Amino acid sequence: MASKNLFCDLAFEPINGLFPYQPGKPIDELQRELGLKDVVKLASNENPLGPSESVKKRIQQSLDDLSLYPDGNGFYLKKALSDKLGVPADMITLGNGSNDVLDAIARVFLSSGRECIYSEYAFVVYAIATQSVGATARVSKAYQPDQQSPYGHDLAAMEALVTEKTSVIFIANPNNPTGTWIEPEALKQFITKLPQHIIIVIDEAYGEYLDEQNQVDTTKWLQSCPNLIITRTFSKAYGLAGLRIGYSVSHPDIANLLNRVRHPFNVNSLGLVAAETALQDEEYIRKSREMNKQGLKQLSKGFKQLDLDYIPSAGNFITVKVGEKSAEIYTRLLHEGVIVRPIAAYKMPQHLRVSVGLPLENEKLLSALKKVLAHV
Ligand SMILES: *Cc1c(COP(=O)(O)O)cnc(C)c1O
Repeated sequence: MASKNLFCDLAFEPINGLFPYQPGKPIDELQRELGLKDVVKLASNENPLGPSESVKKRIQQSLDDLSLYPDGNGFYLKKALSDKLGVPADMITLGNGSNDVLDAIARVFLSSGRECIYSEYAFVVYAIATQSVGATARVSKAYQPDQQSPYGHDLAAMEALVTEKTSVIFIANPNNPTGTWIEPEALKQFITKLPQHIIIVIDEAYGEYLDEQNQVDTTKWLQSCPNLIITRTFSKAYGLAGLRIGYSVSHPDIANLLNRVRHPFNVNSLGLVAAETALQDEEYIRKSREMNKQGLKQLSKGFKQLDLDYIPSAGNFITVKVGEKSAEIYTRLLHEGVIVRPIAAYKMPQHLRVSVGLPLENEKLLSALKKVLAHV
């Protein structure tokens, strides 16, 4: 941490201003700490359905290969992605989760003296990746709570921060932790207007959850905007968070640069076969989307009944305003066996982020929340 670190004088100076990423609390940690048995985790936007059956089977069949290094070029997964997306395989870069790709983007395109733009309340990895390489972050104001798309990215505000030093712009669509999204037309216009020497990253970690009118194939935009990088992941709708696998689609020359800093064998062999299999399982995605839609309805209805404001969400989570006692509410929820995500680190100290779970898990959260609210 920043203070009392024996070696901070030796570290690359910007690292001293960083804090480790704080993940959602793991289920077994809470079980250990409080001696609880029944614990529901709605804290990391994981797919509550668990991995699909076809993926589990494929992994079983691959166990004998574990003594071998994985295919460092991910040939078969890239081929499957290429077929599915209709883009050549040399436009795809695989990552150990899409976080790995975001980090590679920062290492290739940012450095001290260069600037990066992202929005207030945007995914925290943009800040970490930017600062790790000593670049300067310019953070745009988000929309106000009383505006349309409350807490969402304000593209005009982002554009106003562009300088001759701007090298990268990160946009999460939908964004985490706000669940806010940008309409395709507005996004396309924004991207087209910017000078092409700025790398624009569209992080589509939750893209599968967007409703039909907001789903567009952004890879098509690459033809007129070669400076675009689209990142996606198997961690959310595809249900493979534990295997750490994501990818980007970009101009082949950008993919080539990203590949130069990619760690050898950054994607493991189980992740490769699991992702390849998951990609074919359209029924699983359809089911996940449908269940998520119902879950968002269930949770927002429940929040309304509890008289709590929430941010309309296009993701697989929903962020709810519980007020100044949010830290206490979070802790009390833990004692009820429900893990949610505090987002004070995002400068949203009055909100909690709740991932959409199975219907019964959502119900458990809502009744625990009701009980807890009566006590604070
Ligand atoms: C979860 C998430 C990711 C993906 O993380 P992985 O490294 O692929 O597991 C990327 N961006 C956002 C906004 C996310 O919330």
